[in-house]
Amino acid sequence: MFTGPVPQDPATTDLSFAELGLSKPIVESLAAIGFEHPTPIQTQVIPKALEGLDIVGLAQTGSGKTAAFGLPMAEHLLHGKGVRGLIMCPTREIALQTEAFLEVVGKDHKLETVCLIGGVSLGPQAQKLRRHPDIVVATPGRLWDHYERKNLKLDRVEKLVLDEADHMLDLGFLPQIFRVLEVLPAERQTMMFSATMPSSIENLAKRFMRSPEMVDLRPETRTAEGIDHRLYLVEPDNTRACLVAIAAEEKGSMLVFLRRKVDADWACRQLELEGHPVERIHSGRSQKQRVKALQGLRQGEHRILLATDIAARGIDIPIIEHIVNFGMPDTVEDYVHRAGRTARGALRGTVSTIATWQDKEAIRLVEKAIGEKLPRCVAKNVEPAVERKTTIRGRQKIRRRLT
Ligand code: AMP
Repeated sequence: MFTGPVPQDPATTDLSFAELGLSKPIVESLAAIGFEHPTPIQTQVIPKALEGLDIVGLAQTGSGKTAAFGLPMAEHLLHGKGVRGLIMCPTREIALQTEAFLEVVGKDHKLETVCLIGGVSLGPQAQKLRRHPDIVVATPGRLWDHYERKNLKLDRVEKLVLDEADHMLDLGFLPQIFRVLEVLPAERQTMMFSATMPSSIENLAKRFMRSPEMVDLRPETRTAEGIDHRLYLVEPDNTRACLVAIAAEEKGSMLVFLRRKVDADWACRQLELEGHPVERIHSGRSQKQRVKALQGLRQGEHRILLATDIAARGIDIPIIEHIVNFGMPDTVEDYVHRAGRTARGALRGTVSTIATWQDKEAIRLVEKAIGEKLPRCVAKNVEPAVERKTTIRGRQKIRRRLT
């Protein structure tokens, strides 16, 4: 049976926040929200960030990055001298979560934070910008829109954060990021966080950062320990039946990734009919609906959340017991990243992938990356696929898509 709210505890260290150099009011505000000990990324980043160093932090989603950059920012900035903190994030959800965190820890310095995200009208954001915010949290496209309209100045920025930089690049935000970087004061602290370190991220660091300190907390195995991987190889016509069967068999919290909005809509209707408490997030849903869906999952109102890739990127989903890939993810990185939504801290989790024989090459690449063979599983009443050989051309095509 599903048993109430989903917990959200990343693994922490035995250190205290005070030992990292944070002041009493900040430590107290952390205690008030239940942060007693820092996570490994916080332990490593906070002292360096307090020194004003540039930092490249490599860590998975859910490792506590927001506090790692947010706390030193709240510690250093005082209210009232223009926008001095700028945080760029890939998605609206992550921007809203960052803003909410800064509101809590910035209280003592009366810091004003404004969140600039797409999908909502510009007017109210422009109005908030006129009230002299100290920190702006934004998705790059919307930030640039406001800058071009002269709704905000960026010439006083002292601290810049690029959060989930690899995802911002995946989403095609590089041009806007470049434009913003060109107009910021050269004299500033820059912190960049990313789950992976492709050459594009390395180049960004070389070009726009001052000999950054590297903090690399990527797990060696690439996916967290404690994950049970499962592969359901089915005929293309049976993928939907397989999802329904998995939802019925597994009773814990479940996050399902789907490529297309229509699949998310279909699955939502179908799973509801089967009696499951379910919600969905995709780009066709309003901001309010997405926030509500996430809150509902956190508070245990629904057990299953269906999300398209883009909508799910970077969101702070609490610990999920079961991740389901409805279709093989587009890249190995995506597989690893999605798997990172489960088995956080000391907990165990399951990642089930529903795939067809056409995904054979993609499966091989994922198996190579995680260093183990994905155990083949069969869902109740769903025939497994008859395995076929992939042609060399087919294999090359898939490899190009995945790498
Ligand atoms: P983040 O990686 O910043 O999105 O954080 C992931 C989740 O861990 C969020 O739900 C945070 O509220 C939570 N979290 C971050 N740091 C701590 C901490 N030191 N103690 C307890 N929870 C934390």
